[in-house]
Formats: sequence, C-alpha cells, structure tokens
Amino acid sequence: MSVKDLQRRDLARIWHPCSQMKDYEAHPPFVVDRGEGVWLYDVEGRRCLDAVSSWWVNLFGHNNDRLNGALRRQAEKLAHCIFSDFSHGPAIELAERIVTLAPPGLERVFFADNGSAAVEVALKMSFQYHRLRGDAGRKTFLSFSDGYHGETLGALAVGGLGLYGAVFSPLMMETLKVPSPDCFRCPYGRKREACDVPCFEAMERCLAERGREICAVIVEPLLQGAAGMKVYPPAYLAKLRRACDEAGAHLIADEIAVGMGRSGTFFACEQAAVTPDFLLVSKGITGGYLPLSLVVTTEEVYRAFYGDYNEGRAFLHSHSYTGNALACAVACETLNLFDEGILEVNRVRGAFIEEAVRSRFEGHRHVGEIRRLGMVTAVELVEGPGGKAFDRSCRVGHSVYRRALERGVLLRPLGDVLYFMPPYVISDEEVLFMAGRAGEALEATL
Ligand SMILES: *Cc1c(COP(=O)(O)O)cnc(C)c1O
Repeated sequence: MSVKDLQRRDLARIWHPCSQMKDYEAHPPFVVDRGEGVWLYDVEGRRCLDAVSSWWVNLFGHNNDRLNGALRRQAEKLAHCIFSDFSHGPAIELAERIVTLAPPGLERVFFADNGSAAVEVALKMSFQYHRLRGDAGRKTFLSFSDGYHGETLGALAVGGLGLYGAVFSPLMMETLKVPSPDCFRCPYGRKREACDVPCFEAMERCLAERGREICAVIVEPLLQGAAGMKVYPPAYLAKLRRACDEAGAHLIADEIAVGMGRSGTFFACEQAAVTPDFLLVSKGITGGYLPLSLVVTTEEVYRAFYGDYNEGRAFLHSHSYTGNALACAVACETLNLFDEGILEVNRVRGAFIEEAVRSRFEGHRHVGEIRRLGMVTAVELVEGPGGKAFDRSCRVGHSVYRRALERGVLLRPLGDVLYFMPPYVISDEEVLFMAGRAGEALEATL
C-alpha cells in the first residue's frame, strides 16, 4: 500500500480533529507507519521530527523499549476491568507514586481517561464539595480569559479561547473570567524575571467581589499552552493560592500539559511552592502511549464526600475505561524512567534547545519574543515592532508549519507562535536539525 493510497482512503472516511478538512485536499495527512525516538516515519520511509511531542503527550520517544515492555507484560495479564468495587496493582502503584510526587497535602487520586474528563471531574467535585458543606451559593468558576482546559462543554466553559468555544457559548454554563498575565505585551511595562505581578489585581478584585459565588479558580500553572505558550511568573500562583484561601474557593491546577517535567520541575506548582486543592495530570502520564488522567486532591475534599451510602454524599462519576490497567502499567513505567535523573538532564537539554532556537531566530524582524519554561521554547512571530500581531487570516504560523514539514520537522504552531516541545530523548544533533529546519521554514515564509 503506497502513501497515496492510504491518504486517499483516509480522506474518503476520516474526519480529523481540530482541522478544516478542506485544507487536507491540498495537504493530505502524513500517514504514520511507525515511530522511533523523536521521529515519525511513513510507509515509504519519509520521516519527520516530532517537535510537538504529538500534541504534548510524548516524553520518552516513540516506540520506547521500556514502555513497550511494560505494555506487553501487562497485556498478558489484564488489559482492563471494571473499577468500581474492583481494583488492580498498576492503579494502586500509580496512585501511591503520584501522591509522593505531588505537592504535599494531595493524598487522594480519582481516575479518568483524558484531560477534559479530568477537568469535568474537578469542576463537579468542587461544586459538590461546597454543596455537601452547606454552601449552596457557590455555583460558578473563575478562570483566565484565554485559558485552555479541554473541549467538552464544562471544560470549554472555563476555557477562554473563542477559537474553540465561541460557537458553543449558548450551550455553556456562565463562568467568570479575568485577563491572564501577559508578560510579552505587559501593560505594566514589567519584565517577567523580576516582577511582583501587579497584573494579579484583576484576579484579586474578582475574588474579593464575587468570591462567595465561586467554587474554584482553574488555571494552567506558569505556562498557558493553547493560548500560545504564554509564560508567567510563579509569584502569580503564590498570590492566587492565598486569595483563593481568603475567598474560600478551591484552586484547580490544570497541569495536564505542564506537568510530568515539562516545566522543568516535575509539577509546575512546585516552583511557586503551592499546593492546589485539585491537581490534574494527563498527557505525559503514560509517556504518550495511552489515554489516562488523574485528579489528585486533598484528604479534606475526600472526607466531605465520605459517609453512609444513604446520606447521598458519594461522587457518582465514572467512565467506562476508568483506571485502565494497560494505561496504569505504562504510567508506572513512565515514572520509572524519571528515576534516571531525567529532570537534571533536562535542565541542560532545555537550555540547549533555547540556545539553538535563539541562534536561528533571534534578531529576525518578525520574531517578537523567544521564551522558555523548562522543556518548552516558544517563538512568537509578529508583524512589526511593539508586538503588533499579524492578521489571523494571513495564517503565517500555518505557512511556516507547512514549510517546516516539507523539511522534515513537525511544528504545528498555535496561531503565530511556533514552539519546540520535543520528547525528552531528543539528541543534540536532532535539536540542531529541528531548530535549523524550522529557521529555514521561517526564512522561506517571511
Ligand atoms: C490538552 C489539555 C487539556 C485537555 O486534555 P484532553 O486529553 O485533550 O481532553 C486540558 N487542559 C490543558 C492545559 C491541556 O493542555
């Protein structure tokens, strides 16, 4: 079967995610036959470097021997079983280990099967918690006006990106929004590195005025992914923790993208020494192998739901694949891979990636900012000085993406923000290839 045949059959039947399918007529999909490390190959041996970790999920490369082995061993014992009244070793081990890695005070683990589902669980748990405590006035949530928390209706309601949510807004619950920190175009003229976050004022005011209506504040700690890899200082999170406490609202840390070492620390909350009431983990938890998510919460939240069955306090939420044993086994092995000093190695690797990207992009007249948090380096393209953005309809980022793909690098930018978020196993040589080809793609576009 040739690549062309596969593409024809794909386009005859498949509706791809987050895509205008008409675009596929000019650019049919790259049909992957196999993966190896940071590379994806098609049946004819063409390859591209997965610079976005396949939508931020892959940590230790495609076709990883250790993860393959864990998956194979588990498949020979148990793939999946019901998770109410039943349990299994991989889930127990995973819950124990994630608690030791999470910020202190997070002790109870609820399982779900994707990021958006974890967001729904946290929102529902927070809401029900306040009801169980007799605080029925709390019915809404507060989040950033450009936050991203997934694509189910509850997750969209606390998200702020019109691109994904606007058309569905008549269906969504009403929530409160405040502007997020915007360090590149800082209205206060501050620098990210030395900032006492005067922009926290909007959040502070909203919590002071509406705090008693709010179940929880949900944010992506330190790095707003889908908003364009926007990086903001830990001081903001620390202030947010205190303000939530004063308002009696929960803090939900959505670490679905930024957790599992992406931020440079295992969880981003560590950098602000903050313990949220709910920590959401997904994406990298299985090294990019299988769908799984965890909602890690406090003993305090857990206890509020605890009682005799007929009191009706239980949290009645489930998914068919809750606690999937294959996913849990791969997740445990993913954690084993961290034991090999990965975070220390990544400190050097992250800096090397930034340096390679700077050497290709810095000084270009259309590069507005190059920023990095841990293993994520982003390049924001601008039309001109002062951070003036390109008109969306120009699809400049998309053009760079097409040209980079022709040169063997998978970028898939967020609007006009190019970013480099490769699996942790990328070699120096591959980093130079990635940054070099992406740089050529920019030159060819602008
Ligand atoms: C990807 C993502 C989600 C949604 O996860 P899915 O598994 O795609 O549903 C939620 N929050 C953040 C921060 C994410 O990056």
